[in-house]
Amino acid sequence: MNGVAFFLGVNFVVAVCFSAVFAVVATRSRSRRAALWLAAGFGVASLSAVCELLVAYTASPKIWAIGAFATVLTGMMLLRVGIGHLYARRLDKRIAAFFVGASIILCYAIYELPRGTPLQAFSYQSPFAIILLDSAFVVLSSRGRQTVDRFLGMVLLFTGLHFFAKAGVAVLVGAGSAARDYIHTNYALISQSATAILVVAVGLTLLATLVLEIMADQRSESEKDTLSMLANRRGFDRQVQSLLSEAPNGKHAVILCDLDHFKRINDTYGHHVGDLVIQGFGHLMNNSAPKRAALGRIGGEEFAIFLPDTEIGAAVLFAQALRGATMTLPDLPESLSVTASFGVSPLTSAAGLIEAYRRADIALYTAKNAGRNQVKLAAGDRAETENQRGTVAPDHWKT
Ligand code: GH3
Ligand code: MG
Ligand code: MG
Repeated sequence: MNGVAFFLGVNFVVAVCFSAVFAVVATRSRSRRAALWLAAGFGVASLSAVCELLVAYTASPKIWAIGAFATVLTGMMLLRVGIGHLYARRLDKRIAAFFVGASIILCYAIYELPRGTPLQAFSYQSPFAIILLDSAFVVLSSRGRQTVDRFLGMVLLFTGLHFFAKAGVAVLVGAGSAARDYIHTNYALISQSATAILVVAVGLTLLATLVLEIMADQRSESEKDTLSMLANRRGFDRQVQSLLSEAPNGKHAVILCDLDHFKRINDTYGHHVGDLVIQGFGHLMNNSAPKRAALGRIGGEEFAIFLPDTEIGAAVLFAQALRGATMTLPDLPESLSVTASFGVSPLTSAAGLIEAYRRADIALYTAKNAGRNQVKLAAGDRAETENQRGTVAPDHWKT
């Protein structure tokens, strides 16, 4: 077995492995269709190695040479379709089929041309380069790119350009006088080894993209409360840390909230209605809070809100609005009016977070003791708020 046959064997095994791995990833990924297209792409491309060997060792090299070209190109087009699914840039299937068909006809037409001439070499390699450069463009121009996406875009760009380089090398060092001589040339050795490396790089980066997506989904699932559809305590804490890291010394506000007499609601109307209340309250919070706010269900019927870059007066007004809307939660028994109590505390530095929670908790406790269905501002912030807002009575916000 010569070196090129060895690389062809390696390329075949690598492509088949990637195909199998993407098929497995498809069972777990939210981008299931993308993963299946990628699996199909690697599967079809793997056949090119078989065709290349048949070119060298059978009596009808032309058909297998065109087969090798067609399988690689179709495989790449399938990858492009998968990448289009992944990055929300779908490719028109008719255009894709036309491009592949026209390229195969071109390959057939240039088959008899002397190998290693610029016309032959660039006509042969350009369709590969075009598909990969288009894929690179799709990835690099996508919105919300992360490091792995940028890396994938660069690998695709480099792989696309390497096909032009291959054409240049074929012109310079020769690619065998006939298709069946290809396997014995130095060009074939360079070409197949470079392709082997780039196939692995593209495959691994695509795999990393999908695996990171699965991990992000699982983390977001593990940080979500499925009843209220708000973050759970872990998710809420992480969101707060992330907001604090953006503005560690900004003026923020923390609101803690507890549904009133919830046990009584369960006892009177049943646990199912209790669940509906939590669901409705979560919905209300989601709909009424500012977009950047962190919202969490941090206990059974306890909720927390972190308002970044928010003056304490505005935070109190928001809590008041929430308190008012709680009394008219929809889709509940007519005789049931839900109320909630709120404690609000300002926060001026990341280091003061625990203290802000503690003070908001005391304010909430005060609201409960004062008769519930109230918003209380943490002690010590009364004067400041009164001075700022003049007309607001922060100690007793019940309206
Ligand atoms: P308070 O006004 O002082 O807050 O009184 P409360 O009855 O709301 O508070 P308490 O802590 O005595 O009771 C909370 C109840 O919340 C007890 C628990 O069974 C109920 N609960 C906790 N999680 C859930 C849930 O997911 N669904 C339902 N239906 N009830 C829940
Ligand atoms: Mg309660
Ligand atoms: Mg409670």
